[in-house]
Amino acid sequence: MAMHVATTKHEPAATKTAPVTPTHSVGEFYKAYEEEGKLVGYECSCGYKTLTFILECPRCGKQNSLKDATFKGNGSVIAFSLQNVPADEFVNDAPYAYALVQLDDGSVVSGWLPNAKRPEDLKIGDKVHWTKSYKIGMVFEKD
Ligand SMILES: [Zn+2]
Repeated sequence: MAMHVATTKHEPAATKTAPVTPTHSVGEFYKAYEEEGKLVGYECSCGYKTLTFILECPRCGKQNSLKDATFKGNGSVIAFSLQNVPADEFVNDAPYAYALVQLDDGSVVSGWLPNAKRPEDLKIGDKVHWTKSYKIGMVFEKD
């Protein structure tokens, strides 16, 4: 039985595209976060906004269409769970709520609420705001 074996070599697509220059680096994000108390993300020309570090728009696929966007950090809880068995970094804070927050500025982020310790402390739809903290992760408080 004969088998067909492909003999054409394909170059990886990444070697054929020009390098993408981000509008800010991860280091610049953390500098703005820690020193200025600002949340700096990205906004694409198609309207997509995110706080996640990206090099191209996940919605429209364009590269070099991103500009810096500052987020206020206000939003609503869209999902959460109470963490009773946390990672080492949070062992002194448990229990706390780990939440997905729909930001009013147009992005969904994950973060945690150190003051939400019981199920009755938080509910879906609660308004929250980001607060600068010496702790890791995005810390939110109820409005
Ligand atoms: Zn886009």
